[in-house]
Amino acid sequence: MNKFLSECGISSRRNSEEYIKTGRVSVNGNIVTDFSFYVDPAVDVVYLDGEKLKPEKKVYYLLNKPKGYITTTSDEKNRKKVTDLIKTKHKIFPVGRLDYNTTGVLILTNDGNFSNLMTHPSKKIPRVYRATLDKPLIQEHADKLSKGIYLDGRKSKFEEIKYVNSNNKKMVEVTTVEGRNHFVKRMFGQLGYFVKSLERVSFGIFTLEKLPYGYYREITDKEIEKVY
Ligand code: URA
Repeated sequence: MNKFLSECGISSRRNSEEYIKTGRVSVNGNIVTDFSFYVDPAVDVVYLDGEKLKPEKKVYYLLNKPKGYITTTSDEKNRKKVTDLIKTKHKIFPVGRLDYNTTGVLILTNDGNFSNLMTHPSKKIPRVYRATLDKPLIQEHADKLSKGIYLDGRKSKFEEIKYVNSNNKKMVEVTTVEGRNHFVKRMFGQLGYFVKSLERVSFGIFTLEKLPYGYYREITDKEIEKVY
């Protein structure tokens, strides 16, 4: 029942449990107060306060995030939000996070399962970032970062690290399967480098394509199936 309500756009578990507990939800005409009641969306008719509920259509967007946007859905400083960039009637949220000034591939959806799949550490979905550093990355440090260094008390590494062009060793492309906060900046920070700019060029099968900053496109069902 909880899952069904969340698929109908009832956002918090607390709210949905309150609705169920207080007898505001009925299934096929009978009030249901059991959270674990199994709802079959194909046959059951569910009402909340006398209003029929329908699972929301799942939507997915691929955005080239510009600088100066936050990826949380609320902000006490009233900064611009990535969700403001997408015109949709659906309640969408970003899949994972990018820092305020990080640009590049960001997926937004209303599908919690898909989001978990993309971000769960066990899935090890690769993310490729292009970083501009404050000074050239020396080979010895590149080797250390790909062998592994300690971050948050555990061995952490880049799966791959390469120079974008051999004349400018300040520009590097790194691949990671990590989604920890500020992971790329903190990894470089451990070896004394400052990341001046950061762009995510891909997240799993999704790439920047030719999307300009702030532009987005819908992701097709076929693409979503490839992830599952
Ligand atoms: N790593 C970072 O440091 N910042 C991001 O925005 C993403 C990955």
